[in-house]
This record gives sequence, C-alpha cells and structure tokens, in this order.
Amino acid sequence: MIELKDVHKSFNTHHVLRGVSASVAKGEVVCIIGPSGSGKSTILRCINGLESYDTGEILVEGHKVDRNSPSIVSVRTQVSMVFQRFNLFPHRTALENVIEGPIFVKKEPRLQAVERGRHLLAQVGLAEKANAYPPQLSGGQQQRVAIARALAMQPKAILFDEPTSALDPELVGEVLGVMRKLADDGMTMVVVTHEMGFAKEVADRVLFIDGGTIVEQGQAREILNAPQHARTKDFLRRVT
Ligand code: ATP
Ligand code: MG
Repeated sequence: MIELKDVHKSFNTHHVLRGVSASVAKGEVVCIIGPSGSGKSTILRCINGLESYDTGEILVEGHKVDRNSPSIVSVRTQVSMVFQRFNLFPHRTALENVIEGPIFVKKEPRLQAVERGRHLLAQVGLAEKANAYPPQLSGGQQQRVAIARALAMQPKAILFDEPTSALDPELVGEVLGVMRKLADDGMTMVVVTHEMGFAKEVADRVLFIDGGTIVEQGQAREILNAPQHARTKDFLRRVT
C-alpha cells in the first residue's frame, strides 16, 4: 500500500533522511518511534507529498509520489494526515471542518457530505458537537474532529504525527481510543508516537528511526520488549 525505497532527503546541507526503506501493507498499523529530530515527521510529510524527497522512491498503491506531478492531488486524497496541533479552521464549526475536503476537493454534493460528516462525528463520539467551533472544544475533542475530517476524505491510509503529544494527559485516552477503533476496523495507519503502550497494543510493526535511518524494525512486541540494537535499547530506556 505504501512503499519507501532508499529515500534520501536533505534540507540544504543537512542530510535528514539517509536511505529509508520500509513498507506498510493494507490494514497494517505501523508505529514510528525515535528521538527528536530523527526524521519521523519528514517521513510522513514525504509520503503524502507535503515535502519533496531527493532520491529514492515512494509509492502509494503503486503510484509514485511526486510533488511536481498532477497525480499528487490523488495521493493526498488517498492518504490523509492528522497533525499534533489539530489544524482546524477556528471560524468554522466542527461539521464545516469535516465537510470542507469532501465538498471542495472531492466535489461531493453538500447534502451527502453533511450526512456523512454527521455520521463521522458520531463515530468519534462528537455527534452533539457538530455546530461547536474549535475554540469551544477541548484539545481531545478538537483532535477527534481532526480525525473525522481525515476520514471524510475516505482515505486508504491515515498518517498520524504525534496526535496526542499536544494534549493534557487526561485527554490522551479518548483520542487513542478512537485510533484503536480505527485500527480494529482495518484502517491502514502510520503513527508517529511516544505512546509506547499504544504501540505495544495496537501496532502490527514498529520502526525505530535514529539519525535519518531505520535502525531497527519488526513486530511491536519484539522491538519494544526485546530490542536488539543498543540505540533502540537506550531510547526505550529513556522514554518508558
Ligand atoms: P520531533 O520528534 O521533534 O518531531 P522528528 O523526528 O519529527 O522530530 P523532523 O521534524 O522530521 O524530526 O526533522 C528532522 C530534521 O530535519 C531536524 O533536524 C529538523 O530540524 C530538520 N528539518 C525539518 N524540517 C525542516 C525544514 N523545513 N527546513 C529545514 N530543516 C528542517
Ligand atoms: Mg516530528
């Protein structure tokens, strides 16, 4: 479904991704862990074309991700992204935020988008907040709206970039709960996270990245319970 082959990326002289190869199968949940600055966000941003990469290849459903090709629009509708800071439009209601993409990008009829938007808000436990504006919602609620908005595009995969790290601790659980449900429903997910409990319980595979390379990858339990590499061991000792 998603494939990275020897991807390299530099910001000026800073070589940030140094030959990243990985794949994510349909229905799989892959968590990416690693220290700050290791390139986790850059990988996600390259997958959906928010950022360009220099060499190597990224494929989504067999199609090359190329920011300079018109096909990038289709990649972006197939691969939604949920950010650390919810990135909702503050002057639009929860429902309006959710239906924006379907109406303006996918040209869906408004009534149909509204109906599905309400359904999605119900799915993330926010049926009664459809007409609320983001500043009236808690961080956890805003992040659940952001997940409903990602789902509204009917994506084939969703990329999450530290979706709970901007939240107060008591709000983390409700967002992870929604993500866990999505995983159970078979959504393909790539999740950058520091929530090791979530990774252990929900991820099929974990990638540990450090210094722009995947140092170690494998089944979640293997990597998290019995890491082989000294850098992985050291990282896990510090975060858990
Ligand atoms: P964190 O855990 O702090 O979010 P990360 O693993 O997501 O870190 P990235 O955001 O991918 O790390 O950044 C990797 C490196 O690339 C960092 O050194 C960062 O400073 C650099 N970088 C990221 N984006 C840019 C940019 N637009 N211009 C220049 N350098 C950048
Ligand atoms: Mg990041």
